[in-house]
Amino acid sequence: MSLGRIVIVEDETPIREGVAAALRAAGYEPVEAPDGPSGLAAARQPGVDLVLLDLMLPGLDGLEVLKQLRQTHATLPVIILTARGTEDERVAGLGAGADDYVVKPFSARELVARVEAVLRRSPERPAAVGILLLGRTRVDLQRREVRSGDGPAQSLSETECAILAHLAANPNRAISRDELLTRLWGLAPSGIETRTIDMHVARLRSKLSGDDSDKTEKFIITVRGSGYMLGPDVQSPASSGRGDSAGARS
Ligand code: CA
Repeated sequence: MSLGRIVIVEDETPIREGVAAALRAAGYEPVEAPDGPSGLAAARQPGVDLVLLDLMLPGLDGLEVLKQLRQTHATLPVIILTARGTEDERVAGLGAGADDYVVKPFSARELVARVEAVLRRSPERPAAVGILLLGRTRVDLQRREVRSGDGPAQSLSETECAILAHLAANPNRAISRDELLTRLWGLAPSGIETRTIDMHVARLRSKLSGDDSDKTEKFIITVRGSGYMLGPDVQSPASSGRGDSAGARS
């Protein structure tokens, strides 16, 4: 098992291959992309932990890749690879949502240290949420079932669990349909497929509310114009304090 999958978007082959070799030696799984469009597509695949992004790229420049990536992956760690003396680029990159930058030429050791540091503080690797509670309703994401009070357990589909797990791992922000789509299926956002997300959420809500139609919107709330968010009253007993912070943002 690797320490993490890392996409390297870099058009200069020797640099890209050198970075890939260094990451592989350090226990990571590198994925190489030689231009902007293929880099954006690779970064949006499920299972990516971090992106190393050159700025001067054919097809789509690095800043544009970063802006488009941020529309679907608000918190995926991105480290910019930049040439020395281009402070404006560096500032623009951080302004566009990069987590860090490394100045070329860099040593393999320096790069791996930066990758480790950024991954350590990444919200993309939250503690896995196992149990969600709302009143007498209990969701077990590992066993993929929901139970209301002493009632019978109802099973949840893999997709329904994945939606809930992603919402639970990001309790403080609204998750867009596009983000769910790319996260769950690795698809580029499109108007038609985002409706599939709404259908899954509707089915999920009906399972979560059981017979209590009052509860339909409490587990997953709709944030107008933004997407979905876990309701402020949903508790996750494995992660103490989450319920408190959630209460303040409704
Ligand atoms: Ca370049």
